[in-house]
Amino acid sequence: MSKKERTAIQPTREENYAEWFQQVVRAADLAENSEVRGCMVIKPWGYAIWENIQKALNEMFRETGHRNAYFPIFIPKSYFEKEAEHVEGFAKECAVVTHSKLEEDGKGGLKPAGELTEAYIVRPTSETIIGASFAKWVNSYRDLPLLINQWANVVRWEMRTRLFLRTTEFLWQEGHTVHETSEEAMEETLQMLEVYARFASEFLAIPVIKGEKTEGEKFPGAVNTYSIEAMMQDKKALQSGTSHFLGQNFATASGIRFQNREGEFQHAWTTSWGVSTRLIGALIMAHSDDDGLVLPPKIAPSHIAIVPIYRDDAEREVVMAMANRIVESFKGARIDDVRVYTELDNRDLTSSERNWYWIKKGIPLRIEIGPRDVASNSVMIARRDLGPREKQSVEMENVVDYCLKTLGEIQKNIYERALKFRQENTVKIDSKDEFYAFYTPKNAEQPEIHGGFALSHWCGCPDCEEKIKDDLKVTIRCIPFNQDEEDGNCINCGAQSKRRVVFAKSY
Ligand SMILES: [Zn+2]
Repeated sequence: MSKKERTAIQPTREENYAEWFQQVVRAADLAENSEVRGCMVIKPWGYAIWENIQKALNEMFRETGHRNAYFPIFIPKSYFEKEAEHVEGFAKECAVVTHSKLEEDGKGGLKPAGELTEAYIVRPTSETIIGASFAKWVNSYRDLPLLINQWANVVRWEMRTRLFLRTTEFLWQEGHTVHETSEEAMEETLQMLEVYARFASEFLAIPVIKGEKTEGEKFPGAVNTYSIEAMMQDKKALQSGTSHFLGQNFATASGIRFQNREGEFQHAWTTSWGVSTRLIGALIMAHSDDDGLVLPPKIAPSHIAIVPIYRDDAEREVVMAMANRIVESFKGARIDDVRVYTELDNRDLTSSERNWYWIKKGIPLRIEIGPRDVASNSVMIARRDLGPREKQSVEMENVVDYCLKTLGEIQKNIYERALKFRQENTVKIDSKDEFYAFYTPKNAEQPEIHGGFALSHWCGCPDCEEKIKDDLKVTIRCIPFNQDEEDGNCINCGAQSKRRVVFAKSY
């Protein structure tokens, strides 16, 4: 048996998945923990991914009639108190501003002063503060629908944090809309879930399951919550986007009323929906391997690293001339609507160091050019989604065509790989013993690693959901759409059930 090749990321996924994740983030230079507890510093390569997410989503939001706006970061406590369930859901993780200035404390330091008459909450979500504006903007049915999106940072005081997955401060977008009827608001809620699902599969190359959250898992204050759920490579689920039908709950709390077509005043119907920098966590965990990040070309900050290799000035001149020609030839190149970017890396490092640098960062393609390539008028091209040692010789005149075609193939390949992985690790389970065995760790050193997604029957009772959660830390991720009715028995209590739900451990 051959000795296992040493990988660029230590430990490997197999050895310690959680640590592997941290090491990929570090090796790709995406983000780091800041000195501020639970908050992250997003570095340029990570932030560029976020900007690409924003760019693609902004297009999709625009196509569906939404406009961007911005609202205050501070929410008066009294606004927050108006929706009881909402308060309960967020009260335990709020940052609260109570003072407006600092004064000398007489011991050489400073102390908070200027106590506010009303405390402000640093927004954990903006339904109530945006609702206050909407109450002023909406007066008649003619003002509806009102379709607004905000890009912002939010704060939820998390006790246990993890880069991109759970941080005290994170970046997101939150859509907030107001409608004349319940039907229209529900249509909007489902439309935006569909937008998220399309974005995840087309851009992030992540297949998702769309469905409805159970009563116990829904957004505080919502009537219905829908989510897209993705499987990570440790077989856990990551909720990757949510869309909420808020009924008239927040309209009542914020006083969003309008004169209807009959001339009567009534409360409006609202929705909210969001995705966050968690998506970058999803991206990392869905596709990356033991050599580092793997990025879908449509969301990658840059697409092709060009690594010139030379030993002396004479070689340098011919190799760099060819490298520059390649850079030039990609000016204006696109895959679908995405501009293709190149990185010419002639830093004073060995070619191996430069190659590994880009492998770890997940750049989709690498082009190596040495004196021999110049002589044969061809280059070596390596795909990040395949093994680090697989390279293809491509004639100079075909480089652009080959790269553009291959970028498309990589996008497709990593989606299909993720889909296959999910399918292989999603099982219909009908016996309680089998269910419990499925979620019992096989490896004591990695207690988090388990069976995957279980499609099992559930009677609809919160107690059954709770029991499974307590016993196994397994939750109902969603009640998936588009499934046929099927008679079965609840995996916990055996009562009759008409449908299967998706169970999993989750982030
Ligand atoms: Zn039951």
